[in-house]
Amino acid sequence: MAGLKIPKHKHMSLKQLNTYLEPDKIYIPLISGGDTDLEVYFNIGDTVKKGDVIARRKTSFKTPIFSSVSGKIIGEEEVSYQTGIKVNALVIENDKKETAKNIKVRKDIDKLTKEEYIDIVNECGIVGMGGAGFPTNLKYKTDTKINTLLVNAVECEPYITADYTLLKEKCEDVLETIDYILTINDINEAIIAIKENNVDLIKHVLKYKESYLKIRVVEVPNKYPMGWERTLIKEILKVEYDKLPLEKGIVVNNVSTIYGISQALKFNKPIIERIVTFTGEGIKEPQNVLVKVGTKVDEVIEYLGGTKKNVFVVAGGPMMGHKVETDLVVTPELNCVLVLPKIKTMKEVGCLRCGRCVKYCPASLTPVLIKDAIKDRDKLVLLHPEKCISCGLCSYVCPSKIDVREQVNKAKEVLKGGK
Ligand code: SF4
Ligand code: SF4
Repeated sequence: MAGLKIPKHKHMSLKQLNTYLEPDKIYIPLISGGDTDLEVYFNIGDTVKKGDVIARRKTSFKTPIFSSVSGKIIGEEEVSYQTGIKVNALVIENDKKETAKNIKVRKDIDKLTKEEYIDIVNECGIVGMGGAGFPTNLKYKTDTKINTLLVNAVECEPYITADYTLLKEKCEDVLETIDYILTINDINEAIIAIKENNVDLIKHVLKYKESYLKIRVVEVPNKYPMGWERTLIKEILKVEYDKLPLEKGIVVNNVSTIYGISQALKFNKPIIERIVTFTGEGIKEPQNVLVKVGTKVDEVIEYLGGTKKNVFVVAGGPMMGHKVETDLVVTPELNCVLVLPKIKTMKEVGCLRCGRCVKYCPASLTPVLIKDAIKDRDKLVLLHPEKCISCGLCSYVCPSKIDVREQVNKAKEVLKGGK
């Protein structure tokens, strides 16, 4: 499986965790995991509490979406979502009273049954917080015996330090919660995967780990995309799977997701806040900030001192992220807001047939052939663009500056029956 060492820019944001928790308004996007088919429970003019379920997916997932403040719904507005599309959001005027719904301190967490655990994780809207947004309860809703819980703290994108910061700040909570998950779901062991160059983080976790005998910390190579489930499982457990890690008795959760589960189990608290890395050469004061879901990112950037001149914004990291407008809002899956200076990029030139995109593709695809077959559906079927994880390596290594990933994404749409 291919992969590449790419330059890091993580030092920029590794400072004391900042907070921005009292926005005047929040904007709750009516979308969950890319799905806008929702049942909405509130109208304009209604008052809401912090933690109220505002809407729910209509599919079998039924994932709830919450208000992150108490206050009044004052309207609907179009905002930017992290994939670059525009979505409708409910605008809530924050009364700053933090009147919360259903928050309670739960005792005897290790006595919960697996069914109760799955129900709490679902009802608190826990989704993959590493960027995927997949409903977490579905990973545990299985009759297959789970042998290993793999906690992904790799964070291989070059600028992002949100998981790093979370693990530094909340290490005890994370370890305790992993232990609860193992007990409740009868899982044999947990492995926390951290990149080998994060020496201080590894030391930090090992300091707290002593009393948790079923948890191991494993160092993984400093390569991109080491954080991809498939790469990580192969690297650590030497196992390959067809569709899902569960086929081999493995569940993978991002470390921020584990903290989300922690808050759900201990306090019945849904994901209404998260740590987001605000970084890049275009922002004056890069740092990690604890923010409410629904906060407009331009407000946070202003609070941090603003941007330099002539910049653009990316939701997520530079490899997998999407260029967005500044009306982007924080969602449970948003881990980074990257602000970069606009620079004159080299003009795209013709394909050199060098094969670099093939050599480095971690999904063992042939991006150059997919690009060439973009109008030929029959050929595309054989080239499997749907297996692409949008890691961006093919564009990164292309000497002709072709946005190969974009072409592969278009090919996915063609296969789905789009353009
Ligand atoms: S973006 Fe897709 S096609 Fe390109 S290298 Fe990554 S997985 Fe392969
Ligand atoms: S890396 Fe770029 S130039 Fe080389 S084969 Fe792929 S698309 Fe063509």
